[in-house]
Amino acid sequence: MVKRVTVLGSTGSIGQNTLDVLARHPDKFAVHALSAYSRIDVLVAQARAATARVVVVPTDATAREFRRLWGENTTPPEVRVGANALTDTAGDNQSQIVMAAIVGAAGLPAALAAAQAGKRVLLANKEALVAAGSLFMAAVKANGAELLPIDSEHNAIFQCLPHHGRASAPLEPAPGVRRLILTASGGPFRSRRWEDLHTVTPQEACAHPNWSMGRKISVDSATMLNKGLEVIEAHWLFAMPADRISVVIHPQSVVHSMVEYEDGSVIAQLGQPDMRTPIAYGLGFPERINSGVGMLDLAAAGRLDFAEPDLLQFPCLRLSFEALRSGQVACIALNAANEIAVEAFLSNKLSYTRIPSIIERVLEQMSSMHGAQICAIDDVLSLDLEARRHAQQLVSIQSN
Ligand code: NAD
Ligand code: MG
Repeated sequence: MVKRVTVLGSTGSIGQNTLDVLARHPDKFAVHALSAYSRIDVLVAQARAATARVVVVPTDATAREFRRLWGENTTPPEVRVGANALTDTAGDNQSQIVMAAIVGAAGLPAALAAAQAGKRVLLANKEALVAAGSLFMAAVKANGAELLPIDSEHNAIFQCLPHHGRASAPLEPAPGVRRLILTASGGPFRSRRWEDLHTVTPQEACAHPNWSMGRKISVDSATMLNKGLEVIEAHWLFAMPADRISVVIHPQSVVHSMVEYEDGSVIAQLGQPDMRTPIAYGLGFPERINSGVGMLDLAAAGRLDFAEPDLLQFPCLRLSFEALRSGQVACIALNAANEIAVEAFLSNKLSYTRIPSIIERVLEQMSSMHGAQICAIDDVLSLDLEARRHAQQLVSIQSN
């Protein structure tokens, strides 16, 4: 039976890779809906190529743009507008699989709606888990959803754990597992000193040595806040306490992550640094399907290096571990402050080395709220908003 797939954030890096994999398997998958926030011309081309039934855009103006670019020769897909349409579409009963690939906490409500509707959720949007891990995992469990991590490290760990043909949300660490080991490339500034990075430009920060990704996650990879978010993500996905998750620098990005077992075995997943592998794994699970990714040539790779990350060199990684230990309010604040700081850096309003200062300050400002109860998505969204307000204020002080 052909399964219908909704791709949220289809015009992004993960979205485009997802459509590439789907197009290789017309016998297995068809597109139900696509969503985009900007680049409506790309959305039009995607919707045409994939014969999408539905598209979701943010505003009436982008809806008009979509219809104008589509033209009058063929019937356009149904065009839905706004954030509510996005969550409704994520839960549509006409799709079985939802790829959650919107960037940032903006993707949380739709990812949660897909889990609540009991879909197979392919989760790329790590910010959703960082901000609302407990709610998201509870929704997966309560609604019998399947959760397949797409982030390459978590997909690797998932592949290295024992499975029984269904991807459910675990209540405790898998038996026999001692530790999860996340690999990190170290980004473009791995061998430079933190003190020398004041003047780096967005272009330099986005030039990742191994992966081609969206701009926000590229900056996060440079600061290693991305790895910090991934530690928090691993905590929720695999029910693993913070002190049993570690990070090792591996500049070649060939080993995508590892699981250490009680008997001393370490199981790793290796492959080319190409997101189509985890995407194909998530789509096909438990079957393995072609992703279009070339085979790994270990002899050509020659060597694989590993090193301990230096927390002085990467303050954002330290802040992330601290946030995870403090609890969910701190994780929400960490993520929100980072989104504001990165946006300001990308628009040349903040220097690169101020990113961790903004995060640290917002964590301090919100520390009195650390005990706050998080029972519903509105609690998450209001704390997220509060952290954004603090961060925005700090950014405007810095840039004046
Ligand atoms: P991207 O910036 O390339 O694409 C983001 C997508 O989200 C676009 O389609 C955009 O239109 C949409 N979008 C942006 N803001 C939105 C908003 N406010 N509301 C609705 N839609 C919005 O990002 P990406 O690199 O594809 O990353 C997507 C997610 O996947 C991120 O959470 C990222 O951390 C995660 N991820 C990406 C990679 C990668 O290789 N790119 C790897 C692992 C995890
Ligand atoms: Mg990753």
